[in-house]
Amino acid sequence: MLHISTRGQTPPVHEANAICMGLPLDGGLFAPEKLPPMPEELFCEARAYHDLAAKVLSLLFGRLGDLGEITQSAYSRFSKDNPAPLVAEPDGAFTLELFHGPTRAFKDMALQVLPGLMERARLQSGQTKKICILTATSGDTGKAALEAFAGRPGCAILVFFPQNGTSEVQEKQMTTQEGANVGVCALEGNFDDAQTGVKRLFTDTSFHLGMSSRGYMLSAANSVNIGRLAPQVVYYVHAYATLVDKGFIKAGDQINFCVPTGNFGNILAGLYAKHMGLPIGRLICASNRNRVLTDLLTTGRYSLNREFYTTYSPSMDILISSNFERALFLLSGNDVELTTRLMTELRTKRSFEMSDALFASFCEHFSAYTCNDEETLAEIGESFKSTGKMFDPHTAVARKCLRDYQRETGDTRLCVTLATADPYKFPETMLKALGRPSEENGFAAMISLSEFTNTPIPAALKSTMTKPVRFFNVTAPEMIREAAMEMVDCL
Ligand SMILES: *Cc1c(COP(=O)(O)O)cnc(C)c1O
Repeated sequence: MLHISTRGQTPPVHEANAICMGLPLDGGLFAPEKLPPMPEELFCEARAYHDLAAKVLSLLFGRLGDLGEITQSAYSRFSKDNPAPLVAEPDGAFTLELFHGPTRAFKDMALQVLPGLMERARLQSGQTKKICILTATSGDTGKAALEAFAGRPGCAILVFFPQNGTSEVQEKQMTTQEGANVGVCALEGNFDDAQTGVKRLFTDTSFHLGMSSRGYMLSAANSVNIGRLAPQVVYYVHAYATLVDKGFIKAGDQINFCVPTGNFGNILAGLYAKHMGLPIGRLICASNRNRVLTDLLTTGRYSLNREFYTTYSPSMDILISSNFERALFLLSGNDVELTTRLMTELRTKRSFEMSDALFASFCEHFSAYTCNDEETLAEIGESFKSTGKMFDPHTAVARKCLRDYQRETGDTRLCVTLATADPYKFPETMLKALGRPSEENGFAAMISLSEFTNTPIPAALKSTMTKPVRFFNVTAPEMIREAAMEMVDCL
C-alpha cells in the first residue's frame, strides 16, 4: 500500500518511508492512499490483543512483514494481560480503559509499538542515519514517547512541552526521564505554540541539514506520524470483538464510540476503523471549554479567532487539531486541492468553511459536544459518589458529553467511552472534584487521593515522586531551533 501526502506535493511512499519520515516535506500529513477492508473475523472473534494488533497493522503496513514479535513485546509492558480492558460500569456505561501502559495514558497504546515499527521501517528503507524523534506534547505524549524510545539503539528523542500547560505530575514524569538518548525542554507558551514550533522545525531546511551533519534524520512520534495513528485503530476493533464475544451485541450490530478529543488522532483512528468496515454508528467528539471542534462539527466552520483556555483536562487544551486534516482528506475523497486550500486558509485567515456537501459527510459520522470545567468536576464527583469509581478529567468530559448526546438524540445503541488517562495523573483536580482540601503539590495530592478513596497509587507514577529532575531548560518559541540543536549536542 502507498501512503500519500494530504497536500499532494510529495511523491507517494511505502509505509517504511512514511513512518521514518513522520511528516512529508510539503507541510501535509501522510495518509493511506486507500484504507484496506478488514476481514470480518477480526472483529467478530475474540483474540489476544497483541495478536489482533499484528493482524490489523499488517493490513495497513503489509510490507513491514510479520509484526507479531513487535506487538507482543510492546504490550507485555502493560500492567494487565489485556492492555485495553473493556469495563461494564455499574451505571450501564461501557468504558474502554486505555491507560494501563507504563505512563498511564492512552498514548502508550500506540507509542509502545512505534519504536519497533520504526526500527523495522528503518532497516527496510536502508536508512543509515539515526532517527531523532522530535515531539511537542500537551503532557501525555511527551512522557509516553520518552518511555518508548529511551535506550533504543539507533534513535534519539527530543521533547518540548508548554511551560504552564501540563499538570505537575505530567511535567515531573518528563523532566525526570532517564536514558542517554533523551532531551526535554519547556517552551514558553501553550501547546499550540509548542506544536507549531515543532512543525516549523520539520519544514526548516537548515535544521534538517544541521541534524543530518550530526548523523540524524528527523521523525515525529505525535499522531501526525501514521505509524503512531495505525495502532490506535486496533482498540476499536478489539472492543467490538469483546462485545460480540461477551454477547452484548451480535456481529454486525452498529455501536457508537465517545472520544475525549484534542488533536483528533484518537477519534480519527475510529473513523479509519469505520472505513475499514468496523460497524461503527456515530463517533461522538467530546471537547472541554476549548470547543473549537464542537463548533466545527456542528456548523462546518473552523475558527481560530477565539480565546484559548487552560482547563482541568489539559491534554485537550488545543485549538489546532492536526489530524483533522486527515479527516478532511478522507471525507473529501482524497482531494488534495481542497485539503490544501482549507488548511492554507486556516493558517492565513485563521478560519475556513466547509462546503455543504463536505460538511454533510462529516455529519454522517460525527456528533460533537462540550463540557466545561465545572461540569467536569461535577461529573467526577457524582460518578465517585454513586459507584465508587474514579474517572480522570478527560474521561469525565467524555462521559458528560455522551449523556448529553443520548438525551438529545435518543440514540440507544451501545456506546463505548474511551478512558484516556489514569485519574492519578491529575490528583489535584480529582481532590477538588471529590470535595477534598487541596495539597501543596501533586505528590501530596496523590497520597491524599489514595487515602481518601482507598485505592493504590499506580507504581509507575509513585516512582516519579522520588526521582531527581534531570532537565531544567526553558526556551522561547522563536529559539526552538537553537534549543533543539543544543540538546542534540549534549546527547
Ligand atoms: C492525548 C490525549 C487526549 C486527546 O487525544 P487526541 O488523539 O489528541 O485527540 C485525550 N485525553 C488524554 C488523557 C490524552 O493524553
